[in-house]
Amino acid sequence: MSHDDPRAAPGLEQPFWTRARQQEKTPPCQAQCPNSGDIRGWLGIIAQRDKLGLSLEEAYDRAWERLVQLNPLPATIGRICPHPCESRCSREAKDGAVAINAMERFLGDWGISRKLSLPRPEALRREESIGVIGSGPASLSFAYQMARRGYLTTVYEKRDLPGGMLRHAIPDYRLPRDVLDAEIQRIFDLPVALATGVEIGPDLPLEDLRQSHAVLFLGMGAQSARRLGVAGEDGRGVLSGIEYLTRRKLGAGTGLGQHVIVIGGGNTAIDAARSARRDGAEVTLLYRRSLEEMPAEAGEVEDALAEGVRFEFLAAPSEILRDGATVTAVEVQRMRLGEADEQGRQRPLPIPGEVYTLPADTVLVAVSQEPAWRGLGMVRGRKWLHTEEDGKIADDLWAGGDDRGPGIASRAIAQGRLAAEAAHARLRGETALHRQASRPALDPASVKPDYYPGLARGNIARRPQEQWLAEPEAEINQTLSSEQACQEATRCLSCGLCFGCQQCFMYCNAAGFTQFEDAGQGHYFALALEACEGCGKCIELCPCGYLESRDGTAW
Ligand SMILES: Cc1cc2nc3c(=O)[nH]c(=O)nc-3n(C[C@H](O)[C@H](O)[C@H](O)COP(=O)(O)OP(=O)(O)OC[C@H]3O[C@@H](n4cnc5c(N)ncnc54)[C@H](O)[C@@H]3O)c2cc1C
Ligand code: SF4
Ligand code: SF4
Ligand code: SF4
Repeated sequence: MSHDDPRAAPGLEQPFWTRARQQEKTPPCQAQCPNSGDIRGWLGIIAQRDKLGLSLEEAYDRAWERLVQLNPLPATIGRICPHPCESRCSREAKDGAVAINAMERFLGDWGISRKLSLPRPEALRREESIGVIGSGPASLSFAYQMARRGYLTTVYEKRDLPGGMLRHAIPDYRLPRDVLDAEIQRIFDLPVALATGVEIGPDLPLEDLRQSHAVLFLGMGAQSARRLGVAGEDGRGVLSGIEYLTRRKLGAGTGLGQHVIVIGGGNTAIDAARSARRDGAEVTLLYRRSLEEMPAEAGEVEDALAEGVRFEFLAAPSEILRDGATVTAVEVQRMRLGEADEQGRQRPLPIPGEVYTLPADTVLVAVSQEPAWRGLGMVRGRKWLHTEEDGKIADDLWAGGDDRGPGIASRAIAQGRLAAEAAHARLRGETALHRQASRPALDPASVKPDYYPGLARGNIARRPQEQWLAEPEAEINQTLSSEQACQEATRCLSCGLCFGCQQCFMYCNAAGFTQFEDAGQGHYFALALEACEGCGKCIELCPCGYLESRDGTAW
């Protein structure tokens, strides 16, 4: 090797690029989480608590504090998130993905039981006042992120209680209201002001509100249910899935009758069908495509089947039949799957002449939802909001959540947070956090699962199935025990960040690694560039893909 090589450090035998370096990577779980959750970070606090000098209780407290930096509703999200983060977990092929969602729930419940507070607002009181329309997860996340940055924040909600779909649609057997109440209250304790029973538009013009706040966030969700557009739909006995679920959550009578037909294939349809079973009805769910195309969570479909919901696939309603005003049956058209549409999904097509009827007392329509723009002149017609990537509509107007397109709660939380970071940066003339350089993605091949001991995934306990309908509102899924949670945290491979295993330190012949005196998470050993002989041993041994050669390749 010539020292004339521009990439070689003077006086060293190996070219610069073959020597090792420490490089933190973005782990696959975080890349898949809609809210970019620092999963490795909060699991690592628990797993490495001895190295970090923390008791178990301190580790749980700190892990919770890390978790709520991005997600102020961990016990809630830990119950309802479909957890895309687990789908690419590096542990999957070894002995099952880390139970990230169950861990999030465990920490969320821990925070509630310990009455932990969200990070307090900065001492500085900002002069700008912030208005937030709606109180679903997008708005709560935006309000939280602004309040903790010192802004006086007011939430305007048209209903009597905050929470959006989390409170008014998702059934208690999946999300108990005391859990939701505790997590929402913590946000309003920051403090954040709450004005309920105010519908922006009809009660208070949007433009007036815009005048009284430096920044306004629109988190109004998708409140309006789409109609089927078939004969017989108008009148008593036909209601939307959302309307039914909301009435039920408010304790209002639903009067379903014996035969209920649910129409749709998403989570709202499944929640409506399972709730109707709890109300004592015989339930048939019609979906116009097949099981494989169904957007609902597979686990929810399984549970619905276990509760006695009948599924009819490739079946669409063509008419709702009435005797006078009373619904008596649904006329059903048999479908088949045709050519793929623009999204690659096969189009459902009617099979001529194949029509039958099913008896019905009530029909619940859950085909999809859209925003309802009552009295809001700025949005004409029923359209989704169009924003810049970070949610900006104008310097003083931002938006996030389902009013920008249908999604899930963790995406709504992410959009509220990103909008808050960007709006704060604009107010302060700074660069938004998420615009700052991000870390490189982890190369999955750089993780060495064989290094880690085998350990079966810790699964949550579930209430015995025979109790599900007998105690209709009792939560089915249970929280991990502390013992399970501890063990589950140790299953995390700490992809792309040093966890102090000492492999590099022990096997480097050139004594390139020295232990930090002030060791901290991800920060256990210093690597001296001038000592490195470029043999690549440490890179070969590092189980989590943190060490790499200076040109970025793993061994
Ligand atoms: C039945 C059902 C089940 C679901 N299950 C899941 C699940 O298991 N997991 C998951 O992650 N997601 C689930 N979702 C989706 C999730 O609930 C939504 O993605 C999320 O709630 C969207 O949050 P948001 O803040 O955008 O809106 P929302 O939660 O809809 O909140 C909007 C709020 O704004 C208020 N509002 C609207 N207009 C005005 C106005 N003009 N003035 C004042 N207030 C107003 C509304 O009253 C409401 O409180 C489900 C949704 C439904 C309907
Ligand atoms: S929010 Fe959902 S995707 Fe993100 S870490 Fe939690 S369970 Fe995983
Ligand atoms: S092993 Fe840990 S860091 Fe790696 S993907 Fe799974 S949860 Fe994330
Ligand atoms: S080998 Fe172990 S101690 Fe060394 S960098 Fe990798 S994870 Fe950290």
